[in-house]
Amino acid sequence: MSNKTEPEVSEHVKCLILGSGPAGYTAAIYAARANLNPVMYTGMQLGGQLTTTTEVDNFPGYPDGIDGPSMMEDLKKQAERFGTQVRFGMATRVEFEGKVKKVEIDEKTLIEADTVILATGATARYLGLESEEKFKGYGVSACATCDGFFYRDRVVAVVGGGDTAAEEASYLAGICKKVYLIVRRDELRASKAMQKRVMNTENIEVLWKHQTKELTGDQVVTGVELYKNKGEANQEIVKIDIDGFFLAIGHTPNSEVFKDFLDTDETGYVQTVPGTSKTSMPGIFACGDLQDKIYRQAVTAAGSGCMAALDAERYLGELV
Ligand code: NAP
Repeated sequence: MSNKTEPEVSEHVKCLILGSGPAGYTAAIYAARANLNPVMYTGMQLGGQLTTTTEVDNFPGYPDGIDGPSMMEDLKKQAERFGTQVRFGMATRVEFEGKVKKVEIDEKTLIEADTVILATGATARYLGLESEEKFKGYGVSACATCDGFFYRDRVVAVVGGGDTAAEEASYLAGICKKVYLIVRRDELRASKAMQKRVMNTENIEVLWKHQTKELTGDQVVTGVELYKNKGEANQEIVKIDIDGFFLAIGHTPNSEVFKDFLDTDETGYVQTVPGTSKTSMPGIFACGDLQDKIYRQAVTAAGSGCMAALDAERYLGELV
């Protein structure tokens, strides 16, 4: 750790879990049932990204769907039922080298751990518009797979030009009447295959060189104002009617605090040994969106949380 005054070590745990999304809670359920007495620190957003979603209809086992916050509450109860200690707090510094891992919480508590499961997730990027904030959950979403279904036969817009935007636009095109893809340049960043798919989908219209000015509507989104050719002599403002607005301009993995100790890719996603949750540091395991920039689903996060707990259990078994 850095040269700041060290807080006192408050306890030593077998398994410390950071993050309280589906990955963290599933890791906690498995770790608790394996007698690892896990301690979880939830992070600032208790329950993770799913708590910003309204209805979750694609998590197996909920035939009538469930709202995101209730599902996370259920997962928390299930983790606690087997003895997980769930505490509110954020990791502020870590020291992962050596056999005993050290994690400072909220700059005041120091926990020592034999294993650490990282499940801190990723945060969707937003444009930073006031209207976007106002309509979050009321026509603004950063997850087409989660919320697309609510826009059946409606008109939506997707912002972005990468693989996520192309994939989300294609997914929405199968559900919605029309999809506008708002692209700030005159080309897509997405792979050639995804570009081809977008261009060959009849109900996707790409708005090249357009940037979002503001969303309009009263209670819910009903339209969007766009700059066309922003900053150029022929700049103009275009208005289109939409029912939904989907952000797909990338995610930021929440790896800032520990990325110096682990192998990450160029955007900060923690790299794991394929087919496992093992990071480049023995005893540190990663699961969920922190290490997955492709699938990013609650169910895949939960699956990887299970893997992390099993990997941690095996690691501890090999230590003795
Ligand atoms: P990305 O590749 O970083 O693309 C972000 C897109 O959003 C870019 O087109 C960018 O425009 C645009 N953008 C960023 N800020 C913006 C702003 N303020 N206003 C308007 N547009 C903005 O992110 P991603 O698409 O989420 O993909 C992340 C990584 O995951 C990539 O490596 C991607 O290949 C991978 N991925 C793979 C798959 C797959 O293989 N199935 C699926 C999804 C993602 P510019 O192009 O102008 O910079």
